[in-house]
Amino acid sequence: MSRLLVIGCGGVAQVAIQKCCQNSETFTELMIASRTESKCIELKEKIEKSGSPVKLSTAKVDADSKDDLVKLISSYKPDAVLNVALPYQDLTIMDACLECKVDYIDTANYEPEDTDDPEWRAIYEKRCKEKGFTAYFDYSWQWAYEEKFKAAGLTALLGTGFDPGVTSVFTAYAAKHYFDEIDTIDILDCNGGDHGYPFATNFNPEINLREVSANGSYMENGKWVETKPMEIKRVYNFPEVGEKDMYLLHHEEIEALGRNFPGVKRIRFFMTFGQSYLTHMKCLENVGMLSTSPINFEGKEIVPIQFLKALLPDPASLGPRTVGKTNIGCIFTGRKDGRERKIYIYNVCDHQECYKELGSQAISYTTGVPAMIGTALVVKGLWKKPGVFTTDEFDPDPYMEMLNTYGLPWVVDENPVLVE
Ligand code: NDP
Repeated sequence: MSRLLVIGCGGVAQVAIQKCCQNSETFTELMIASRTESKCIELKEKIEKSGSPVKLSTAKVDADSKDDLVKLISSYKPDAVLNVALPYQDLTIMDACLECKVDYIDTANYEPEDTDDPEWRAIYEKRCKEKGFTAYFDYSWQWAYEEKFKAAGLTALLGTGFDPGVTSVFTAYAAKHYFDEIDTIDILDCNGGDHGYPFATNFNPEINLREVSANGSYMENGKWVETKPMEIKRVYNFPEVGEKDMYLLHHEEIEALGRNFPGVKRIRFFMTFGQSYLTHMKCLENVGMLSTSPINFEGKEIVPIQFLKALLPDPASLGPRTVGKTNIGCIFTGRKDGRERKIYIYNVCDHQECYKELGSQAISYTTGVPAMIGTALVVKGLWKKPGVFTTDEFDPDPYMEMLNTYGLPWVVDENPVLVE
């Protein structure tokens, strides 16, 4: 029996909310609140038509405004808030949760909307020098809330999507059941889906393009090694998908796993991209369309990447036209009982199956399902402790069980091909 407030009603939120409604023993009442309330109402009506017993309501909220959020949270009085809006809103929503004494859950770590903000930039540049990686997002902003959440007796669960999220749970599961010591972790994110457009992104274009066009990095012996964007390429033959080119990227779970599993000697993240995507992205970058700095256009200030977002297909609309499968997982090497061991834990998800079930493509599906699972474990008290945590810091077993129940079954291959 719980009451949940979900903020955001985009591609990921629509899956997370529908999955919460499939888990109506845990979620009895749910409010969908977002910037555009019409999307919330449309989703509410769709779920109600399906006969769900969950009591749904909707609201309009500006999640950039702490006051607006506090007003909404204190009137609805949820047990937890699931933030599936954008990473820009993480801190305002965390502040509002603290003020209203409610647990907080999200799927992506904080980054600022305006990367030219001088106050943020000074802190960022200091962090780049100290830590050695230049991504706009990092955990420092949200880990800084640790003492506040602890003192309030509240839980903040960060990054419960697929990657980060499930990939970190796979790591905790491997450490618990398969290894005495883990030496290396390679996280492989393969999207073998085809939406038929020359260029589109599978989740929020602004967040996606910022991530992909940035420098890559990996962790070796506790230190960051930074690469140029797309500098390290490998080819891997993914189960149920086939051979794909993949590129090393910086990714947020590397930071959390590096902190929480300090004995691991190397942690890398690879994502697959087709040549058409990379060529379009490079061209857009070269002409300045990925810039986050506002420019004046015919008397109006516009941010190029936001203008580009308005031109690109809405990721939530890709569902009906995307065919193929995703394969996301982790390859671990290390030792158990004195013997060398290697395993690969992965999930394969079919875009068309996701569309048939929920009207969404697999990227939103593979993020929305874990968002529901992490939230359910917090509200049920299984993953509830005071402080700020990532998903590798709890018992992985109930999460792994729920992945099987709620549409993301996983496989353990005990003899995988390793990535060079
Ligand atoms: P979308 O752009 O599809 O949806 C974002 C939603 O947030 C929209 O409904 C939008 O409203 C709403 N929103 C944006 N700004 C505000 C605001 N100020 N106040 C209230 N609502 C707001 O994004 P996705 O669904 O693709 O992604 C959602 C989150 O999931 C992102 O943080 C993304 O980084 C994360 N993600 C995580 C992954 C993982 O594996 N961990 C993978 C993929 C995504 P409107 O409808 O008005 O635009």
